[in-house]
Amino acid sequence: MTISQQAFLRDAMRRLNLTRDVFATRIGVKRRALDTWLLPEGSQEFRAMPEVVQRFVSEIVQNGVLLEKYTQSVQDGPLRDRIAVEGKHQLLSVDQFTRESVEDLFRVADMMQPIARRQKVSRVLEGAVLGNLFFEASTRTRVSFGSAFCRLGGSVCDTTGFTFSSMAKGESIYDTSRVMSGYVDAMVIRHPDQGSVAEFARATNIPVVNGGDGPGEHPSQALLDLYTILTEFSRLGKLLDGAHIAMVGDLKYGRTVHSLIKLMALYKNVKFSLVSPKGLEMPSYIIEQASRNGNLIEQKTTLAEGLAGADVIYATRVQKERFANEENEGYTPDFQINRAIIDAYCSPETIVMHPLPRDSRPGANDLSVDLNHDPRLAIFRQTDNGIPIRMAIFAVLLGVEGLVQHSLRDVTWQHPSHVGPDDSVFHGLE
Ligand code: ASP
Repeated sequence: MTISQQAFLRDAMRRLNLTRDVFATRIGVKRRALDTWLLPEGSQEFRAMPEVVQRFVSEIVQNGVLLEKYTQSVQDGPLRDRIAVEGKHQLLSVDQFTRESVEDLFRVADMMQPIARRQKVSRVLEGAVLGNLFFEASTRTRVSFGSAFCRLGGSVCDTTGFTFSSMAKGESIYDTSRVMSGYVDAMVIRHPDQGSVAEFARATNIPVVNGGDGPGEHPSQALLDLYTILTEFSRLGKLLDGAHIAMVGDLKYGRTVHSLIKLMALYKNVKFSLVSPKGLEMPSYIIEQASRNGNLIEQKTTLAEGLAGADVIYATRVQKERFANEENEGYTPDFQINRAIIDAYCSPETIVMHPLPRDSRPGANDLSVDLNHDPRLAIFRQTDNGIPIRMAIFAVLLGVEGLVQHSLRDVTWQHPSHVGPDDSVFHGLE
């Protein structure tokens, strides 16, 4: 097999759109056996899947894909060409994806997991340089993009804030972008103005990734969020088609939810409950776009109405830095996602997400820390997934995803099995 057993099986389940239980029945094996085949190769409980099962799975996936191609005449070709913007290999918006191309990207991300988990190293981007241009505050996005590029063997040059860039001297986006293109092989850009990253992208032919453009979009965050949801659902035996997703908080300025709702709307019969304080509702142009696939979108004003029966609760921070005339200093206490509210309205299988940072200052009433030991809290599984997803984005945009599997070598250093002291037992093992 050219890819790991875990990546192969996850991809098969995604392509066939089957839960683990149904997939096990479909291929005639016990769920317990399938679980052990799905573990990372280094783990104690891992078992190799018999070759005959592997051949059978390949066959049913191939038949499924052929059938899909026949009925939908899906366009083939390299993934980077299928998601290109005006012929350029850039990632500016989730609008570039179809359900098929998003799942193809996740297949590449699965292949990156052994690197992200520090079991393997790869140097497929050796010699390449990334320019990380962040004109707004960032911890996760900037560092994880940088780390992802380094873990593929490349190097990173950073500039942070306007103060230390020539934009403070009045340099235009066009000039900055063209100059950087002579220095680096790809750029990740975060900027406070909606549409500004697209302007950077128009001024260059090298890959540009939108790391957040004001209240516009944050496509890499939405991709890692969706990847997290599908991974968690696989563990819980759920499908995204027909699921109930509650999005809570500042949905007006929160760019992560703008991208995420459009991306999830590629799935079928998803019910979205949007719960926001008055004046911070999701913009109507996004609701319109997300409802095109026949998904149900309901706007609610209280947590009680929005959270009941939700499979996923996606909480967000108040984006005070973008406020024009709004006055909210934080959420009112009755708007806080905490243990009591989750226990009251949700099941033990609900997952709680947040793009982070959560505002932990008094009075903010952002996602509570009282869920930190609760396995339903998926926020750090989410941040960890930022690495394989961002590696996949670079590998695809730079056209090296086909080289990764054969480039893998064992790591030489020691690392803990769980990086966080409160990580759930299954964290990193599924
Ligand atoms: N980190 C996310 C973003 O940059 C969410 C947030 O800042 O609240 O959009």
